[in-house]
Amino acid sequence: MKDIVACPICGSKELSGLKHMENWMKKTPMSSYTCQKCGNLAIPFILDSEEDYKKFLIELEKKDQE
Ligand SMILES: [Zn+2]
Repeated sequence: MKDIVACPICGSKELSGLKHMENWMKKTPMSSYTCQKCGNLAIPFILDSEEDYKKFLIELEKKDQE
């Protein structure tokens, strides 16, 4: 099954420019993408399925309304 990666800011799946970064403090590799929609450089949200992605979008909308 293919993981879905989404922008944590706007929820777009159009991410590009994978960059591998090293978190020196924690010694853990991280990857970040540039979102094609909002232009933010972000650590992507990883979702297991299309269903989870839909839930994530609903939660994101709720945040916007607060
Ligand atoms: Zn975005």
